[in-house]
Amino acid sequence: MSGVVVVHGGAWAIPDDMVEDSYAGVKAAACEGSSVLKKGGSALDAVEAAVRAMEDNTVFNSGHGSMLNADGEMEMDAIIMDGSTLSSGAVTSVKNIANPVSLARAVMEKTPHMLLSSRGANMFAESIGIATVPTDTLVTEYARKEWEKHTAFAFGVLEDFNSRWAHDTVGAVAVDSAGNVACATSTGGLRNKMVGRVGDSPIIGSGGYADNLCAAVSCTGHGESILKVTLARLIISHIERGKSLADSSQLSLQYMGDRVQGAGGAIVVSPSGQWAATFTTKRMAWAALDHEALWYGLNPGERFKEELSQ
Ligand code: ASP
Repeated sequence: MSGVVVVHGGAWAIPDDMVEDSYAGVKAAACEGSSVLKKGGSALDAVEAAVRAMEDNTVFNSGHGSMLNADGEMEMDAIIMDGSTLSSGAVTSVKNIANPVSLARAVMEKTPHMLLSSRGANMFAESIGIATVPTDTLVTEYARKEWEKHTAFAFGVLEDFNSRWAHDTVGAVAVDSAGNVACATSTGGLRNKMVGRVGDSPIIGSGGYADNLCAAVSCTGHGESILKVTLARLIISHIERGKSLADSSQLSLQYMGDRVQGAGGAIVVSPSGQWAATFTTKRMAWAALDHEALWYGLNPGERFKEELSQ
């Protein structure tokens, strides 16, 4: 098996005028991750590359193009996890880092810790030579306009994720030829969130989880709901009990909807190369590149196939 990469561009009511760019963005990210695997890279390398591609794409709410908090500032969160060792690294509330997922990886590989926040994360970035960029270069006109339109945070859960209010986190899961799995998730978080708010994305077991003994998962959706049910770990626990990847994701998202009225989505890959992309929001852009084809979709039940050129 040469490996599989699955990515998502966030679960929410993606407006029609963003549909084409969302398809293109997730397809490009899946191809990026897959080309890393083809060159002999690991699952960890692949998820980092795929997420970086989406952080650099302003159509998604991560890295360049992140949504702004109540004060009109950017506060980004990211996690990466290696299923072979259960090591993970995460950052929260970073402001002027173009690719938070790579900083999260450095936390995992170069510190004795698993999560660094705001100033400490930035100090660490500086100490290892990860360049900071002026925050303004990461803020898009769209993000600024959206912030200006909504000067107060609107509470509500299902409504949020089924309206234009919510926005799109990005994530990737991969399995490499050695059967190692990895996950990564990166986000600007909820638009107009309180200053200092940290969602599910950088929290192990909620925004992502990877274990070679089971699967790798990256989640998206209403962060406070995902945290309440530890969605990534919940999906893993269903798979551990023998359920299929798609059923485990569906059951867990259903549970989150019933129990805490939260909507969201998840992508999953297993060490044997099975995968699933599932959501309970109106839409979620996703793409998967396996041995057979490039698959992608955005609306419920949608599954387009593009044959791979040899
Ligand atoms: N889960 C993210 C958060 O709550 C948002 C999203 O997935 O769109 O920060």
